[in-house]
Amino acid sequence: MQSMLARGAGAHGMGEFELIRRYFDRHSAAHEGVVLGIGDDCALLAPRAGYELAISTDMLVAGRHFFADVDAATLGWKALAVNLSDLAAMGALPRAFTLALSLPEAVPEWLETFSRGLFECAFQFECPLIGGDTTRGPLNLCITIFGEVPSGVAIRRSGAQAGDDLWVSGQLGEAALGLRLRRGDAGLEPLDALATRHAINALELPMPRVALGLALRGVATAMLDVSDGLLGDLEHVLAASALPGARIHAAALPLSAGLLTQPEAVRLQCALAGGDDYELCFTAPASQRARIGDIAARSGTPLSLIGTVGLASGPAGIQVLDTGGQVLPGFERGQFKGYDHFGNA
Ligand code: ADP
Ligand code: MG
Repeated sequence: MQSMLARGAGAHGMGEFELIRRYFDRHSAAHEGVVLGIGDDCALLAPRAGYELAISTDMLVAGRHFFADVDAATLGWKALAVNLSDLAAMGALPRAFTLALSLPEAVPEWLETFSRGLFECAFQFECPLIGGDTTRGPLNLCITIFGEVPSGVAIRRSGAQAGDDLWVSGQLGEAALGLRLRRGDAGLEPLDALATRHAINALELPMPRVALGLALRGVATAMLDVSDGLLGDLEHVLAASALPGARIHAAALPLSAGLLTQPEAVRLQCALAGGDDYELCFTAPASQRARIGDIAARSGTPLSLIGTVGLASGPAGIQVLDTGGQVLPGFERGQFKGYDHFGNA
């Protein structure tokens, strides 16, 4: 499409094609399965026989998903990381991605920094950039990612069985704590520099659980990545799996040392309803516990057993229990929706 970015040289002496060549064309065709990368009307991918393509898109809008003044390198990392997290959540192996970029201005320093963060993530997860679109407009990035998974093996949200264990990777609520720190929210206990950095990193540099997602093929019955808050996301699994409810033990929630120093209300809000965790939440029968322990050890990812799904007794919905087994009030169904862009804020 004819772009609003100057086709010739713009204010910074750089047109659209020069911009793409300088910052985004990194020999993607050297990757296995990439028949043709950047430069033609389409990229060409060669799917492997016996595999399905897993495709996901995530859009990041300035002022809505990130602060407009966020460091461009962390933005580049996160834009790709959140897409890789969606592949991880299906047990899919990353193959390639495309980038649609809308920029107010082609500023070389910004593009240099952004592409450094983006390609750091791309190289680490061996996921080449094979195409995209570049246009002038409000800062907005959209990545579409392509992965592959053996036919019939993808881990969907719909496979949870009544009585399955409920597991989560890593730590919950850390990115939400980072967001509160970034915004300078009141009501937080002071944190030392290390704990502050840990929380901000969780927010800005999420680590997609790709290896873990692959290892959970054939083990997890249902899985998703926690992007909008555990309770809201778990509701999706329950609905897709046609299960009436779930029980979560608050004491089993994996929290960082920093979050543990916070008032209980902050702790629970962040862990249960905070967004941007990009941890994997999955269900599995109790018979898989030993194997899941092995997977945690081999992948170097802590995995926590936090509850059970599919309980027919008691009220429908998710119950959060304290150490004494009492239901914590305030977390009933409907009270803790995941983040909804078109819901009532
Ligand atoms: P078209 O006009 O056919 O849409 P473009 O002129 O927009 O093609 O893009 C030229 C080539 O550069 C295409 O291969 C496209 O995929 C690639 N491309 C454009 N923008 C980006 C970007 N931000 N990152 C990676 N590749 C890009
Ligand atoms: Mg185009």
